[in-house]
Amino acid sequence: MNLILVAAPAAGKGTVAEILNQKYGLIGVSAGELLRGVDPETELGKEIRQIQSEGKLVSNEITNELMKQRLSMSDVKTNGAILDGYPRIMDQVYALESMMKELNFNIDYVIYLKIDYETALKRTLGRRICPNCKKTYNVLTGYNTPKVENVCDNCGCLLDKRNDDNEESLKVRFNFFNENTLPVVEYYRNLGKVIEIDSSKTIEEVIKDLEKSLGV
Ligand code: AMP
Repeated sequence: MNLILVAAPAAGKGTVAEILNQKYGLIGVSAGELLRGVDPETELGKEIRQIQSEGKLVSNEITNELMKQRLSMSDVKTNGAILDGYPRIMDQVYALESMMKELNFNIDYVIYLKIDYETALKRTLGRRICPNCKKTYNVLTGYNTPKVENVCDNCGCLLDKRNDDNEESLKVRFNFFNENTLPVVEYYRNLGKVIEIDSSKTIEEVIKDLEKSLGV
């Protein structure tokens, strides 16, 4: 099974993808993570980080290429994938369609996680990430709080904030989503592929609703 996760920022895409990976072995393919993974010492890595910190989109050329490379790997074919944060705009939908033809890959469902701005803001300002193992925490929502303040439960590293987790960047990303990504949802809705989930609920409820809709 191959899924696309579409959501406004901080709706919990990463957390949902991680749980679906643990429970069903689906491979999480996150555009944001692939972009953050480009070496920050290189010119390209610096450029990407700058764009991300402003909450803008990295060019289609770079993003499509990274996605294509990742989707070509054998684990995706064997286990199925959850595309997280891609496609975000209609041009990326068309790029994905041509990749799918080339790689013989199909999308079964598009999961749309809905969230209101106030909830997204609280999640954004409280989000912390382990720079080493990438586990994410939240210090404001009461969910996923680290056991020791600012320290990763898994590996003991000091937690970081993502450089785009500020209110200004959230506003830009949220408005961008409404203008450019909602048409992507509508496109897939017309194909009968969209499952809509209220993502302001707890993660347990979100997963329960999702599993019910997927029939798993
Ligand atoms: P995310 O990890 O999904 O919150 O994405 C973080 C940032 O990575 C975004 O604000 C963009 O700067 C960049 N990014 C993520 N997905 C895409 C995409 N599909 N196309 C272009 N840039 C992206």
